[in-house]
Amino acid sequence: MWGQPAEAADAPENEERGTEQMWVHVIEGAQRLQLPTKFLKALPPGFIHVEFDDLRTYAAEYHPDDHRMVLDRSLSFNAAGRMLKPLSKMTHKELEVFYHELFHAYLDYLAVIDAQPDEVGHRADELLYFAREQQACRYGEVRIAPIIQRKGETESRYLTQAESWEALNETWAVFIGWAIWNQLEVQHKAKQSMFQEPRQAMHWIRRFKTAFEKGEFRGYYVPEDPDERRLARKRYLAQQSQLALGEAVVLMKQVLGFQDDFIERLMIGFGPAEASPCSTVGGRAE
Ligand SMILES: [Zn+2]
Repeated sequence: MWGQPAEAADAPENEERGTEQMWVHVIEGAQRLQLPTKFLKALPPGFIHVEFDDLRTYAAEYHPDDHRMVLDRSLSFNAAGRMLKPLSKMTHKELEVFYHELFHAYLDYLAVIDAQPDEVGHRADELLYFAREQQACRYGEVRIAPIIQRKGETESRYLTQAESWEALNETWAVFIGWAIWNQLEVQHKAKQSMFQEPRQAMHWIRRFKTAFEKGEFRGYYVPEDPDERRLARKRYLAQQSQLALGEAVVLMKQVLGFQDDFIERLMIGFGPAEASPCSTVGGRAE
């Protein structure tokens, strides 16, 4: 549930209405901040259950098994741990965390829908289809950086299905959070959408290029093998296994709903396309 007054908590209709209202507030809040809403609008209001706990400030969790999002109390109204605080009251960093978790929820939702038996000719959602293709092609075998401080030292790992799905999920969520934080930073002074202001758009694109070159779009996975897990609770991907440009473009289009001319401008900054290791439909690798 998105949280509602305690006295209404045991009345199912009120609970439902509270959840729907909260979701409306989330989408309106995002629109007011000129932030992407494309994938938020695709999520049914009651899908995610939000809870608050005393986590570290920027920590958050998403549990696909019961579609549960656990956020730090600081993201709740008056830090009371009951209702989500308005997006306008969140810091840029808090919105980055929130969007990161919302993206996990979205991918979870697409997987849930896909698993439901339905009409003939059923085909996975375009993004889910792309995700599975990338999971097999790019996240089945990865380079990891065993010691975070030593980026240059990498090792190869073959990932299980669960590990590669998690690695993809985290890598993509890192990018979504990054995109939101940087959009907020770029829009901060002008108070208008970066899509209406070419200079701001260029600013975001430059930041993206720098982050991409530095290898900032890297996820992690929790090793399934107990021996490996004894060595490290989480394995972080190395720069070689960061988000590919083609993946970023698909996420910008299909999840964030970035405009085509913005993406075209971004692609110009990258020069000729490098050969993609996957035969994907994403990006410029056809
Ligand atoms: Zn995550």
